[in-house]
Amino acid sequence: MKKIFGTTLLLGQRDIETIYGKFVSVVFQDTILKTYVIALIYCDTWNNMNDRNFNNNDEVYIRIHSSCVTSEMLCSQDCDCVQQLFGAIKKISDAKSGILFYLIQEGRGCGYISKARACQLVQYDELKGNKNINTFEAYSLLGLKPDYRSYHNIKEILHILGIESLNFILLTNNPDKLLGLKELNINIYKTENIEYEPNPFNLSYLISKGKFGHDLHLLKNSNVGYTFPYQPILPFEPFNLEKYSRFIYVASYYLPIKNMYNWFYIPNLNKDSELYTVINKFSHPLNKNLFNINDETAKKFNINDPLWFRVYLYYDITTNLDYIVLEYK
Ligand SMILES: [Zn+2]
Repeated sequence: MKKIFGTTLLLGQRDIETIYGKFVSVVFQDTILKTYVIALIYCDTWNNMNDRNFNNNDEVYIRIHSSCVTSEMLCSQDCDCVQQLFGAIKKISDAKSGILFYLIQEGRGCGYISKARACQLVQYDELKGNKNINTFEAYSLLGLKPDYRSYHNIKEILHILGIESLNFILLTNNPDKLLGLKELNINIYKTENIEYEPNPFNLSYLISKGKFGHDLHLLKNSNVGYTFPYQPILPFEPFNLEKYSRFIYVASYYLPIKNMYNWFYIPNLNKDSELYTVINKFSHPLNKNLFNINDETAKKFNINDPLWFRVYLYYDITTNLDYIVLEYK
């Protein structure tokens, strides 16, 4: 295996156990941009690569996944990224063949600062009752291109791994991604959708993705809305904090965060209600307002209240890092 090709350098690898089985995580870095790309390779695919067991035109699943700090790390429910991430890993594991490429390309590659400012704009507009500005229009109003992502590292990684001539089945709903990969002459043989049931908090985002050309089929059956419990946050021009001027306050908006491990906070539950009868025995030993409710029961009783956190996003000009502060409201 080569160590470097183009601007992509192989840094190292290790076996990892996931909930969907054994994978090998191979880490690459772009020598100009300094960004990392992880190739999460299913163990059998890795062994076949190393033993040169592949024939040209053998089929292998690939997913090219751009990071989403809010849903993947903070468990927010306002998009479908985390479902697509775990869904793709599961699909690869079920097929016993495939590679998931994980790219640090937040917010379609524009970075979390711009993504958060777009989220703030969309949320403000929605809470004002307008519902006019979708994610793509917000990008345009903020002077952003619809998509900044680049896939040249993928092409170079396939060369480093020596598997360029395989037939790849691309897991995506996004025709632009397919086009971007084909322009790089990556051998995409066909695509397969990777779609999950919308929730009330990501529905309008998914509808705008659908309007922008994403191949989505589950939208029409779901038109559940939700009531937002707060005053909208007026979009603002970023400014340096008065006392700590190294930090620029760049955006703020509310995130609906998923209840962890199915623990739901339901205060003042009516003891005569059917719900109380069903869930009372699952209350937390130390907090009678916390209940462990399985997905089926949560769906039946329409319990989908998220934990609303307010995001404060700061940019640190001395380290060039973004800092996220979450405040529970
Ligand atoms: Zn996301």
